[in-house]
Parts: sequence; C-alpha cells; structure tokens
Amino acid sequence: MRVTIFGTGYVGLVTGTCLADVGHDVVCVDIDAGKVAALERGEIPIFEPGLEPMVRSNHAAGRLRFTTDAESAVGHGEIVFIAVGTPPGEDGSADLQYVLAVARTIGRHLERPGVIVNKSTVPVGTADKVHAAIAGELAARGADVAFGIASNPEFLKEGDAVNDFMRPDRIVIGATDAHVVDRLRRLYAPLNRNHDRIVVMDVRSAELTKYAANAMLATKISFMNEIANIAERVGADIENVRHGIGSDPRIGWHFIYPGAGYGGSCFPKDVQALARTAAQVGYNAELLQAVESVNRRQKLHLMELITRHYGGDIAGRTFAVWGLAFKPNTDDMREAPSRALLHALWDAGARVRAYDPEARDEAQHVFGERDDLDLCESANAALAGADALIVITEWKQFRSPDFTRLRGALRDAVLFDGRNIYHPDEVEAAGIAYYGIGRGRSV
Ligand code: NAD
Repeated sequence: MRVTIFGTGYVGLVTGTCLADVGHDVVCVDIDAGKVAALERGEIPIFEPGLEPMVRSNHAAGRLRFTTDAESAVGHGEIVFIAVGTPPGEDGSADLQYVLAVARTIGRHLERPGVIVNKSTVPVGTADKVHAAIAGELAARGADVAFGIASNPEFLKEGDAVNDFMRPDRIVIGATDAHVVDRLRRLYAPLNRNHDRIVVMDVRSAELTKYAANAMLATKISFMNEIANIAERVGADIENVRHGIGSDPRIGWHFIYPGAGYGGSCFPKDVQALARTAAQVGYNAELLQAVESVNRRQKLHLMELITRHYGGDIAGRTFAVWGLAFKPNTDDMREAPSRALLHALWDAGARVRAYDPEARDEAQHVFGERDDLDLCESANAALAGADALIVITEWKQFRSPDFTRLRGALRDAVLFDGRNIYHPDEVEAAGIAYYGIGRGRSV
C-alpha cells in the first residue's frame, strides 16, 4: 500500500521504516530539512537499536523515501499518518499546533479519497478537530474529496521501538467507518499473522486508551517510589518488598522498579495532559496529580541522599555521573531525571563528570558549555578526580563494575545507586558506602 507519514521523529521514523520493511511503499515527510537530508543519506538523527540498517536497506530498495515536499507526499499516500509531536502547553494540556498544522496541510493538498490516521498522542476529541481542519481547507478551495479519519495510537518504547512495532501486543484502531477499519487491517496484516492483535473501537476510546496506558505505567512507578520512600524510613529494603509483591500474578513483575523517577517525552506530559483533560470536563483527577507530584519529588531523592551523606556540605565536590538518558538504549534526554539532579548539584556548587554511552551529544545540546560539567568518553574517565559516583541510568555496561578499582578511584568511596542495580553487600564489602532507593538498611 502507498503510505505517507508526517513527522520523522521516534514514532514517525520507526512507523515508516517498519511499514516499508514489510513491503509497503512509504514516503516520510518532515519540515526539518536537515533531518530529511540526513535520512536520505542513510544517517538517522536518533539512537534507536536496529533502526539505522533498516532505514538504509528499505531506502536502497526504493520502499522508503524522505521529503520536505508535503504536496507530493499527500499525493502519494492512500493512507496518511500524522506522527508529529504533541508537547505540553503551558497549562499541561497537549499542544496540538503541529497536529493541526499537518491536518491543514493535508486539506490543502488532498486530491483523491484517502484515510487520515492520527498516531500522535492526542487528547480525546482531537480527531474531530483534525477532521474539521481538513474539511475547512477542502471547502476553502472548493474541493469535494471524501476522506476518513482514524485514531491509531502508538505503544512502542524507545530503546526497543523496532521490536515493539514489529511484534505489537495490540494494534488499537479507533474508527467507525468500516472502510477505514478495513484499510488499516490490510496495512497491518503483515504484523498480525500469528493471532489477531487488532482491537477496533470508537475514536474517542482509542484516544483515551493511549493516555490510560501511559498513566497506568506512570502510576506503577510512582507507587513503587512511594513504597520505597516508606521502606527507607522504616528500615525495610524495597528490593525484598518488590520480590514479595511481584510474585502475585495480579501485581506481576513488570514495571515495579523503584528509582530516580520517570522521564522521557511521554509519561510526564501524558499524565499531565490527561489530568488537564479531566479538569476541562469538571473532574478532579487526584490520583494522576499525585502520580505526577510523587515523580517530581523522586527526581530529587538522590539529591536528598547526597545532601544527607555530606551533611549539606556539597559545594566544591566533584560527582561522577553514569547515565544521562532518561532510560537505557536511547539518547533521549527529554524530562530525564538526570537533568533535575545535575541542576540541583550545580545549584549546590558541585562539579559533574558525566558519561552516557549514547546521550553525549544530546547532553551537550541540553546543558551547553559549562565550567562545572565534563562530558567524558568512558565510565572510567568520569571517575577521574571524583569524590563520589552517582548511577542514574541503568545501562547494562554499568551493572558489573570492578568495585575494588572503584574504591581506589573515588576520593570519598561512596556510591549513590539511583536504580538499585547493585547489591549493597557487594559494594560495602569493597569498602564503598552504598545508598540506593528505598533500601532502609542504608540510612
Ligand atoms: P519527535 O519530536 O521525535 O518528532 C516529531 C517530528 O515531527 C519532528 O521531526 C518534527 O520536525 C516533525 N514535524 C513537526 N511539524 C511537522 C509538520 N508540520 N510536518 C511534518 N513534520 C513535522 O516526536 P515523537 O517522539 O516521535 O512523538 C510523536 C508523537 O507520538 C507524540 O504525540 C508522542 O506523544 C507520541 N508517542 C511517542 C512515543 C515515544 O516513545 N517517543 C511513543 C508513543 C507515542
């Protein structure tokens, strides 16, 4: 099928590439000319495991093209996806300016019947706005072109996006028009062979499903962080508690890790946007607000442990930081807990020597040039001259350090483990003071 995707970010690029990989004829369009030129050269602007070779092979096979020319792109697609950003507006609601700009562009150029699919995460009711924007442009130029609208929220995870897209748990299609549903069933058929993963529902339910999924996941994280903070105060170890509750199948093992708070481009903005949607319809979403405020506090919990360890005397100290991305296997630093922590350390007068396997360039971009930040080339380089080590992103390569060597490298021999990836006994046996999240024994 001929497919057009607006937006070549994490979602648009993965969607376009994976659909090309299963044989569709895909054109990706973006307003960022630099990004499009790089993609045409086979260079991808993000770190996403497995994506670059797929972009190259499908581009070489002629099934995947990149352009800034919206008119030809709209002309190409029998199915047109909107996969542009929906960042938070000032009041926390989703900013729809990019989505609606694309809708107007589609309306300006649509010449034959098509299906418009919204893949961006958008508040309930956005499909109606997209429909109105397209219809308005068609009417303005006196064109009479039939088009259908669907909501098809995306559930991929950065860091494992290709796998998630190719082997989805479910494919949600929000549409009432049988023809639209049929088109999307055909499009996704190559990913839907093993058993039927397609869940068809009305558009509003599909729009809400995406927010409900992210809000539930964020709730699990904030819940565990809340229990961790209690554990710390009552002398219990959250890792024992985690094992104790995860074995209950009603609770399960997934997503119950305590840590330094959730970040990324989705959970923080989606929890806020859902709370905002609720407020707009007169409902006070207390649980969602608590999820958000627990997370905001959790992002600074490591700073509390550090301040406590040093009795508030942090100015002039140097901290090695391992991990800057909001989670492993991505270079994405949007809303990353590392950002809140580093700013808190700098505000307290500390210096930072940081290493991240993939987010170095992004960190440079986010933090700019600063005298109190060294972005290092390796985990060991970050330790040079450091008083203490803080681990904030659980990249695999950080999991088994040589603790004896670490003991020798750190002036104060203290480790703050923001993801509980180490066993306190092992660290302490090497003569290093250990602080984790919710590990009551450490206070
Ligand atoms: P992103 O910021 O990485 O990419 C958005 C892209 O859209 C950019 O390349 C931008 O230049 C382009 N763009 C903006 N206006 C445009 C226009 N008028 N025409 C063409 N291109 C335009 O965003 P993302 O992370 O891919 O997220 C996209 C949407 O998908 C958001 O609503 C997000 O909430 C949702 N989502 C994201 C993820 C994720 O893990 N990143 C997962 C599921 C859903």
